[in-house]
Amino acid sequence: MARITIDRLRHAYGAAPQKPEDWALKEMSLEWEDGGAYALLGPSGCGKTTLLNLISGLLHPTEGRILFDDRDVSNASPEDRNIAQVFQFPVIYDTMTVYDNLAFPLRNRKVAPDEIDRRVREIAGMLDLEASLMNRASGLTADGKQKISLGRGLVRSDVNVIMFDEPLTVIDPHLKWVLRSKLKELHHRVKRTMIYVTHDQTEALTFADRVVVMNNGEVVQVGTPIELFERPAHTFVGHFIGSPGMNVLPAALENGGVSFMGSRIEVIEQDRAEAAVGGRVEVGIRPEFVSFAGHGGLAVDIGKVTDAGRFRIVEARHQGHLIRVLVPEGMAVPAGGAHLRFDRQHTHLYRDGWLVA
Ligand code: ATP
Repeated sequence: MARITIDRLRHAYGAAPQKPEDWALKEMSLEWEDGGAYALLGPSGCGKTTLLNLISGLLHPTEGRILFDDRDVSNASPEDRNIAQVFQFPVIYDTMTVYDNLAFPLRNRKVAPDEIDRRVREIAGMLDLEASLMNRASGLTADGKQKISLGRGLVRSDVNVIMFDEPLTVIDPHLKWVLRSKLKELHHRVKRTMIYVTHDQTEALTFADRVVVMNNGEVVQVGTPIELFERPAHTFVGHFIGSPGMNVLPAALENGGVSFMGSRIEVIEQDRAEAAVGGRVEVGIRPEFVSFAGHGGLAVDIGKVTDAGRFRIVEARHQGHLIRVLVPEGMAVPAGGAHLRFDRQHTHLYRDGWLVA
């Protein structure tokens, strides 16, 4: 396994890129530790596949370097990089047995038969495939086939990194969580460097210890799931992660403080508020950290209330601006008019989308 370093990497598909939008991948530097579980999370078109292809060697970067440990692999071929990849759709041999499918990558590399048998049985055990080892792969469901694909990715012990590209797309919704937790468990057992690419926040947050969030060809934040939740580095992260996402409200700097529609808002970055001068100022607070207060809070009109099981999502409006509030089960929701309180420890200040830090 290897530590992966992305060093001032940039990529453009067209020749002679000039404008920022000519770059499918804007400049980025990242360090992925040996044995870590990472996710690459972002909406369609943000550049995930481009980055994945640069790492696997299907593309060569316009600028910058990719290192596996201390070796510069930027222009190495895919075969030379020793990467295992699991794709959206299962890549298996229908006519072979499950056993032979799992053994295939090892036989290809001339691993000794005893060792092949040991590895195949170990991986089959982890994926609950033992009972079907001698069956033909063609008879399996889509989930079963994708399990074999996962197994083929995991069976080799000589790979630098295992990359999963939206691997649960074809999996039945009710089985997704089973495979999701299985993958997490497998990472704990095999301790390989794994990169999981997805646009689904639940998959990213359950699998990864650290999540790389991308938008518009740019890395907007690298953090643990808790960091992404509690301290979004960009309003995009606030919106994209969380259900519902963070409230982002237009704000202004007045008399040394931060205000929203003329009301003073206490933010955790108050000491650094000056750094927001001259930019587009916004305040961000997650619905989890807004509560109903007595008089003196922000006056709102209560609109739609949605029951989401263990909590309700309340849509409140202040001078036309929507503020979502998460109300735990069993707590009353006022009708008509109410006042809101923002938890200062979780109220953040943004300048031009970026956290004032
Ligand atoms: P998706 O989840 O839809 O696959 P993505 O996050 O993987 O999206 P990319 O496929 O990496 O995003 O695309 C990033 C940008 O690069 C997009 O603007 C896309 O249109 C552009 N792009 C991707 N492949 C090519 C290509 N072969 N030629 C030109 N532009 C491309």
